[in-house]
Amino acid sequence: LPDGVGIAHLPNQRHKIVSKRGAKFTLMVCGESGCGKSTYVNTLFTSGIKDPKKLHLRHTKQTEKTVEIEITKAELEEKNFKVKLTVIDTPGFGDYVNNRDSWMPIVEFLDDQHESFMGQEQQPTRAGIIDLRVHACLYFIRPNGHTLKPLDIEVMKQIGSRVNLIPVIAKADTLTPQDLAKFKRNVSRKGGERALLICLTHHPSITQILDVIHAQGIQIYSCPIESDDEEVTSTNQRIMDAMPFAVIGSTEDITIGDRTVKGRQYSWGVAEVENEDHCDFKKLRTLLIRSHMHDLISTTEETHYESYRQTQMETRKF
Ligand code: GDP
Ligand code: MG
Repeated sequence: LPDGVGIAHLPNQRHKIVSKRGAKFTLMVCGESGCGKSTYVNTLFTSGIKDPKKLHLRHTKQTEKTVEIEITKAELEEKNFKVKLTVIDTPGFGDYVNNRDSWMPIVEFLDDQHESFMGQEQQPTRAGIIDLRVHACLYFIRPNGHTLKPLDIEVMKQIGSRVNLIPVIAKADTLTPQDLAKFKRNVSRKGGERALLICLTHHPSITQILDVIHAQGIQIYSCPIESDDEEVTSTNQRIMDAMPFAVIGSTEDITIGDRTVKGRQYSWGVAEVENEDHCDFKKLRTLLIRSHMHDLISTTEETHYESYRQTQMETRKF
């Protein structure tokens, strides 16, 4: 895969225009509580993205659950081209009788960012615009059932109609008892790391999730795949084929022989975050901060923000 930030690979002229002012990229994670969102964000900032600055410290209750939106910023740089990355971690939902109260604030936050940008855009001076419009929202799906829960469907519909929604299967290393049994058989027969991949690709929920997403009319991000460069086309294809991305989160360093990796230690071995045979963490990171960052930014501007703006203009006429 090509290295570096995707925007640096833009055609020259466009690159010059964009690189003058740099780019801003805002990523949000959401989903039920306890499914690994905060761990994923921390993992992202310990593998590939350095020196994050935490703006809002997490307010933790005794349960250590994230109870308010937490923002982490970092700067990515490549060939003198800067990207200001903002990651928004949200409180989980799913613990309450009335879950609407827990996920509505997240949906409102997305609308608020569009609203606030629209307000600032209409001001005569545009210097110092604060723009927290979300370019990609990762929706974490718990790997326990065989399909999406009604709550997931409801929230994903809301999010997908507002921003680029990317479904993620959380905790790819935890499998149902059947999958685990299958996995163990694979381990003893084939041995080693490939077994986990075999389990993941045969995980029944993976194709079912996409089926439900399509049947329910949930809008998810789909990127352009065709490119003049054959290599880029095949990279794009490989990345999109992995949707919904199965991820493993961990900030723990584990030594395997002479390698040190981020992963989760089990009696049968290590589930490695950055091993493509174990999960799609790397593919998702490539999509977000390299290959499709520019597409995520421009579709946010041209599709999602534009549709918000038009709807608002229509309703305000009356
Ligand atoms: P959040 O509520 O969605 O932010 O979830 P957290 O990131 O706080 O994680 C909840 C629990 O799941 C913690 O005990 C994590 O260590 C664990 N966890 C997070 N990611 C993974 C993963 O990929 N695999 C496994 N097995 N556990 C995970
Ligand atoms: Mg959390």
